[in-house]
Amino acid sequence: MSGGLGGTAARRDEAVRAARQEETVRAARRDEAVRAAVEQGLLGPDVPIVGLLDVAGIRESAAALRTAFEAVTAPGTSVLHAFAVKATPLVPVLRLLHQEGIGAEVASPGELALSRAAGVPSERTVLDSPAKTPGELREALALGIAVNADNPQELERVDALMAERASASPLGIRVNPQVGGGSIEALSTATATSKFGVALRDEGAREWVVRAYLDRPWLTRLHAHTGSQGIPLTLMAEGVAATYALAEEINERAGRRQVDTLDIGGGLPVNFTSDETTPTYAEYARVLREAVPGLFDGRYGLVTEFGRSLLAKHGTVVARVEYAKSAGGRPVAVTHAGVQVATRTVYTPGAWPLRISAYDGKGSPKEGPDVVQDVAGPACFAGDLLAVGRAMPLLEQGDYAAALDTGAYYFAHHYAYNSLARPGVYGFLTGGPGDVAFATVREAQTVGEIVTEAGGEHAAALTEAVRRSG
Ligand SMILES: *Cc1c(COP(=O)(O)O)cnc(C)c1O
Repeated sequence: MSGGLGGTAARRDEAVRAARQEETVRAARRDEAVRAAVEQGLLGPDVPIVGLLDVAGIRESAAALRTAFEAVTAPGTSVLHAFAVKATPLVPVLRLLHQEGIGAEVASPGELALSRAAGVPSERTVLDSPAKTPGELREALALGIAVNADNPQELERVDALMAERASASPLGIRVNPQVGGGSIEALSTATATSKFGVALRDEGAREWVVRAYLDRPWLTRLHAHTGSQGIPLTLMAEGVAATYALAEEINERAGRRQVDTLDIGGGLPVNFTSDETTPTYAEYARVLREAVPGLFDGRYGLVTEFGRSLLAKHGTVVARVEYAKSAGGRPVAVTHAGVQVATRTVYTPGAWPLRISAYDGKGSPKEGPDVVQDVAGPACFAGDLLAVGRAMPLLEQGDYAAALDTGAYYFAHHYAYNSLARPGVYGFLTGGPGDVAFATVREAQTVGEIVTEAGGEHAAALTEAVRRSG
């Protein structure tokens, strides 16, 4: 082996060691935070569920993302990492990411409002959604927010708006390279019949896209998002390669560098089986550089839209075990975390298994032999189970069960089954042992708010008002 390759291997080994170290420290921080949450009364008999966010961990992931792309792009390349707000739609999280150099990818008026409330500037915001109304498009163009048109009808709406008034918005079209799906059908955005973008391999579609650019000098971006959890990196890279090839073709036919920025979407999968972060942003960047070298040579600005991979590992739902019972010989821990915070896991447990950690009533990690048990939620249907037949230290009444890796698409995505309240969410920072500071990210929903949101102010609407107006 040459010295150079040996050096590279040694550097990789060193990077892997550093990563394992970071993961061990992160798990220790989580344990500290659970204990402190119990000690400080964020969690207890009257507050039986909370969401916790590891601020240092979020910063680490943001830095890892920036560094990974800095390592593969030509100096001076413009790169905007836009966090997919849907993964964790919490204003303080968006502000933290903004401070870490990460913008926002929004897909609804609500998400746009959240990112604006967080102070993310228009030029660091991207709007893609499959069903933008004329009003949304008008607002985005007035603000100068980047928009990726999903389909020909949407492009017509953009045409009309551009004819009315010029806009500073960078504009592009979303294409679906149709490279195929991954292991989770519902998250596979690049199947032949996906609802997203212009289906590039359909008859006439490629030519339509090229003409759309040639006819509109203001179309300067091209967007694809080839999938999410369950998609292999090589397939994601294939989607990016197809998008790059299309940009090259457009520019060739335009005789100028009309497409100046490629938005390569998000979708890096997350490992839900251990504390290890795998794959890493660095690995994905290397796979991309090998598959699409031209992407990084400085001719194109880049936009990325990672969601899950930035936040998943940094969130934990901690729920009190209200009762511990046994049924048919199987121990069942009835906790306060179920379908309302882990909707995907409860409805499709095969696709979305979660690790569960056991803590005692003081918030210390539980020791003891593994016992096969079910971890159930509080909702009134039999399938409300976080884990089935899981071997772990026996959960007893007054203990806590923690659902790990739930920082993205979990506790921030409340599902109001049984009118269960949205839990409070707290960010934590640890100093030394026993030194944990919490900050409120989102207050727990109150019962009064539940009544209001359930039409409490219109209590008589169906018995009185409906007759008056009819
Ligand atoms: C959901 C989504 C993302 C983020 O996907 P992750 O799997 O969370 O990284 C990015 N871009 C678009 C257009 C999306 O719909």
